[in-house]
Amino acid sequence: MPASSPFEVHDNRFKALFNSSAALEELYSGCRWAEGPVWFDDARHLLWSDIPNQRMLRWTPDGNVSVFREPSNFTNGHTRDRQGRLVSCEHGTRRVTRTEPDGSITVLADRFQGKHLNSPNDVVVRSDGSIWFTDPTYGILSDYEGYKAEPEQSSRNVYRLDPVTGEITALVSDFLQPNGLAFSPDENLLYVADSGASHDDTAPRHIRVFDVNDGRTLSNGRVFCHIDNGVPDGMRVDTSGNVWSSAADGVHCFAPDGTLLGKILVPQTVANLTFGGPRRNRLFITATRSLYSIYVTATGAQMP
Ligand code: MG
Repeated sequence: MPASSPFEVHDNRFKALFNSSAALEELYSGCRWAEGPVWFDDARHLLWSDIPNQRMLRWTPDGNVSVFREPSNFTNGHTRDRQGRLVSCEHGTRRVTRTEPDGSITVLADRFQGKHLNSPNDVVVRSDGSIWFTDPTYGILSDYEGYKAEPEQSSRNVYRLDPVTGEITALVSDFLQPNGLAFSPDENLLYVADSGASHDDTAPRHIRVFDVNDGRTLSNGRVFCHIDNGVPDGMRVDTSGNVWSSAADGVHCFAPDGTLLGKILVPQTVANLTFGGPRRNRLFITATRSLYSIYVTATGAQMP
């Protein structure tokens, strides 16, 4: 590998997941805090959030970047549902929304037990249409990436929104700050990051994994891996079940057994990533001020 290779091998299994000639490309710079990348293969574009700048941006493969939505209500994480619709977490309005094909916005969740959510952070959709999201307090800690407010919820929960009734259920309540989340390829496991160490050095900086029971509840939570540089934020899983997590020094790739396989070193703190492109083999990485991409030989799971 060239000396400038961004790939750092920690376990030989990682060598099968990248091509050593692939380079890290900076596609855009000028964000304040880039987050929430989501790929639209049908539209051939990538959307992502620039949270403090109150906007969502759109990148197209010709290199063009334009404003997709402004103001964005401080959107953070995004995903797509099984119909391909955009599902978004909004800090400013403390809700999860869906953008309809005509551009109108449907509120999916903004309260739990009659009280405002904290600030939904990241979201995934299961193949049964249920929507799973995390609700830490980052978006209400200050006026920088939302609006400062006291939390109304007594805990920072992981929620499931039922696709039939629209009701939300708190599934896990013992996270310090639940953040990125992703299902295993068979959807029998859910990985959830705890980024609590972002504001407390003694707090967890790990990813937990849970068993998913009948697509409705979680059990048997245990620590899956620790992040050795920074905290875990957004993550994605590939078709082999490897977990690709954000970290301060780049993207960390973990085997399904929790072993750190390797890293993709990125010059700025990574907040989130997604697999995109027509072959789902291109990682799009949101890292502080910039959007980066790099081709890998892994294939992203869970695309609509
Ligand atoms: Mg996040």
